[in-house]
Amino acid sequence: MKFAISSKGDPVSNSILQRMKTYLLDFQLEYDEDRPDIVISVGGDGTLLYAFHRYRSRLDKTAFIGVHTGHLGFYADWVPDEIEKLVIAIAKTPYQVVEYPILEVIIRHNDGGREARYLALNECTVKSIEGTLVMDVEIKGQKFETFRGDGLCMSTPSGSTAYNKALGGAILHPSIRAIQLTELASINNRVFRTIGSPLILPEHHTCMLKPVNDVDFQVTIDHLTLLHKDVKSIQYRVANENVRFARFKPFPFWKRVRDSFVGDIGSER
Ligand code: NAP
Repeated sequence: MKFAISSKGDPVSNSILQRMKTYLLDFQLEYDEDRPDIVISVGGDGTLLYAFHRYRSRLDKTAFIGVHTGHLGFYADWVPDEIEKLVIAIAKTPYQVVEYPILEVIIRHNDGGREARYLALNECTVKSIEGTLVMDVEIKGQKFETFRGDGLCMSTPSGSTAYNKALGGAILHPSIRAIQLTELASINNRVFRTIGSPLILPEHHTCMLKPVNDVDFQVTIDHLTLLHKDVKSIQYRVANENVRFARFKPFPFWKRVRDSFVGDIGSER
């Protein structure tokens, strides 16, 4: 089995990377940064997002494992104290693969139909470069509303605990193949109106944003910020690809949510 390790870059994560690499090589596993079967991310969720994008062209052949070093680590199952256990599990145990849906974003431009396709593990946000974002929102080819406000966020189920949560979106179990649209400070008054609630779209529904005035936007895909000019439309749907995680022990999603956001507060009662 071939493996790669991606580190947050701080001294603690780098030293764990070195230890894991040495142990796994001792177990006769092959280190291959270009074509790994498993990718171990050491750091926080930001490190896992980086690793996801580094290997996005081979998602069907790569399974991710997260080790968290002091960060939230929503995607990470392992802590530094468990490194030896994890290495033995990787070397000796056939692992189970858990697949989560991800988001496909297609940005089409006015000039000659140029288009860019992205995959997001957490979400895509769209904001205007200057002033209020004004976008027509279409769902399944039908106009739904004209949005006016700071921006729009489309998240995946596993990304629903990230930016989406801060925007009042629901936390969605990743077995639900859906995407969720939330608003960033919409303008709502007698003249302008938006739905105001998060919308959860199933796998077979496409959401399209169409510029009303400005055609230049700031688009984020997870941790990446991009500038897109002369945009004709931004299309969202559940991607055909999935992200795959290698699981060596059960860590149910709701336990992950509880550990990350509720902790032990209130458990005394
Ligand atoms: P960052 O600003 O350094 O970190 C954002 C925080 O979000 C970190 O604590 C990170 O955990 C956590 N996080 C990432 N994915 C998560 C998930 N699926 N569930 C729960 N928490 C998660 O930015 P970054 O490290 O480059 O990560 C980019 C992400 O930041 C974006 O995808 C977006 O979701 C999030 N973000 C959130 C807000 C907000 O909540 N208001 C605003 C902008 C962006 P770790 O500490 O383990 O890395």
